[in-house]
Amino acid sequence: MQAIRTIQASSRLRGLASQLGRKSLAYSLSTKIVQSPSSRRQLSTHNPSSTTPATTSANSFADLHAELLKGATFGGYPTRTHKCGELNKAMVGEHVVLTGWAQNIRKFSDDLMFLPLRDHSGTIQLVLKGSGTGKGDVRKSLQDLTAESVICVEGRVVAREDTAINPKMQTGEIEVDLASVRILNKTHKNLPFLPNNQSQVNEEVRLKYRCLDLRRDALQQNLRRRSLAAWVIRDYLVEQDFVEVETPMLFKSTPEGAREFVVPTRNSGSFYALPQSPQQYKQLLMASGVDRYFQIAKCFRDEDLRADRQPEFTQIDLEVSFGSARDIQALVEGLVRSVWRKLKDVEPCGGEPFPRMNYQVAMSKIQHVADITDENILEAIILKGSMKLSGSDLKKLTQHDTQVIPVVKLTDKNVDNWLSKLPFTHKIKGAVDTAAANRTLDVQVGDSIILNTRPTFLSGGQTVLGKVRLELANALKMKGLLDIPSSQYNFLWVEGFPLFSPSEDASMVDTTNRKLSATHHPFTAPVAEDLHLLETSPELVRGQHYDLVLNGVEIGGGSIRIHSPKLQSYVFEQVLKMTPLECSRFSHLIDALSFGCPPHGGLALGFDRMMAILCDTPSIRDVIAFPKSSSGRDLVVGSPSGLTEQQLSEYKIKVTE
Ligand code: ASP
Repeated sequence: MQAIRTIQASSRLRGLASQLGRKSLAYSLSTKIVQSPSSRRQLSTHNPSSTTPATTSANSFADLHAELLKGATFGGYPTRTHKCGELNKAMVGEHVVLTGWAQNIRKFSDDLMFLPLRDHSGTIQLVLKGSGTGKGDVRKSLQDLTAESVICVEGRVVAREDTAINPKMQTGEIEVDLASVRILNKTHKNLPFLPNNQSQVNEEVRLKYRCLDLRRDALQQNLRRRSLAAWVIRDYLVEQDFVEVETPMLFKSTPEGAREFVVPTRNSGSFYALPQSPQQYKQLLMASGVDRYFQIAKCFRDEDLRADRQPEFTQIDLEVSFGSARDIQALVEGLVRSVWRKLKDVEPCGGEPFPRMNYQVAMSKIQHVADITDENILEAIILKGSMKLSGSDLKKLTQHDTQVIPVVKLTDKNVDNWLSKLPFTHKIKGAVDTAAANRTLDVQVGDSIILNTRPTFLSGGQTVLGKVRLELANALKMKGLLDIPSSQYNFLWVEGFPLFSPSEDASMVDTTNRKLSATHHPFTAPVAEDLHLLETSPELVRGQHYDLVLNGVEIGGGSIRIHSPKLQSYVFEQVLKMTPLECSRFSHLIDALSFGCPPHGGLALGFDRMMAILCDTPSIRDVIAFPKSSSGRDLVVGSPSGLTEQQLSEYKIKVTE
């Protein structure tokens, strides 16, 4: 049956080929285009506000046939001899064949036109000069060419006149004198935007038409840098005897920490979950004797989105048997150094070991103003008067999730009493002494004080003011008010995190008596000296966890794991107060630990965040080929999307409003 279908299909193809005729498949360039009388014209104008390009479907097969015959669309075309960005002055006189995307044409007269041609390597200026042999055909081809059409050109490399040299262009000393132009695929006129001219389009439009946006030089370079970084990472880790192992994408729902994406199956009531990280599998691999594992792994977390978060992201994930925290950190430092050397030609921390800081110290770097209660303190960051941010900039920075952080701008009027005028002043413990606070904070009229109250007991990754401080630094840098050289890379290990943090979900505390949750994940081992506190004061137990921070941003984290099945069960049951059902979801892990699992630990680096820093861009979307929008949607394909009634019924899913 299959064979019969194939024969039928190929005879249909033969029929189609004979209808089209040999000519359409021929090696021909002639495009029948009417010559325009205009003396200076741009390629057809693009409407940047348009978000719906006209459809390109042909009205009938006859139209399609005619169109195919017109161009060389399916004909052969010569193989390119060079990439656009490769051409240089030493090649003057050479005949070249180039392919790429036509940009806006500059037409001075019928005999003088300039057309920049772009491919992934760069842009070269093509020129039509004079009216010699073959020039008429070239002119005809250029006449009606729309920007971003794909063309193949032949010509001779010529030196530009001295006055026409463009030092800003990689190929600015030369141009290519056109001998022929083949149009391989002409764009329709209403492109939503032009890749390198996107000032008038918002990010949603750029995300929707991602293949246009990805043609932009900056994004092309980011994709290449990412690929190079992945190659360096693999090279380094394989050299260090790591084994790359792929772990399943269709995993199981386990109460590991983050909210998961679940995947229905046709087996009613049975679901997979996408892994929030390969954490459990990589521990199982240690129990399996793999010794050193790594993976450039996709992870999925259904969490509230922030500017630097994606529901689907990539980690450089690794795990090591019989290694101490120091061993793992040394391996990671080596990995980071190889990447920075290759991509930035920089030796991080001048070749010295990365510095370390205790969690408590790292978190309390912001200035203390007053104790509010036994459980809360008031803290502040100061914006000096010379750092002039507009009121709206400040407002944006101090709007955090649902919370607005108070900012006091010191004036002659309030400088002596601002502290006593705060809405929560009455809660401050002890004397309210504005003059003393001014001295401690070293502030004067013109300065702004950004204030926040936070729990005295530190937990989690960043305080609210910690986040504000980073955003403030970025905003000041963008405005040229703060000089943080982009080539400065300050790496830091932060250690000594509390193993457990107070539960954020008050309803859970009430209904299940779960006062604590794992600060990182429930598999992190306690610091040995704190083990005795596990029963009586678990909140005081430190974890063997370490975070890698770069210029104040967490780029990775890991830990030594619990390898004792008894201790792991104790943490699940007695400290985290998991129900028997929840504990049973980890039975595979407890089994693996009890089958002779070696002591082990590891770490995961956020590949997207790391690449954003390496590509000097504030947005991780700029280093991901097809990122989700800020609302978690893939605007290219329009997902998430609905299912048909039939699909829903196959999965026995009922959608309610
Ligand atoms: N799997 C952890 C995470 O995704 C990192 C680690 O502990 O290795 O945060």
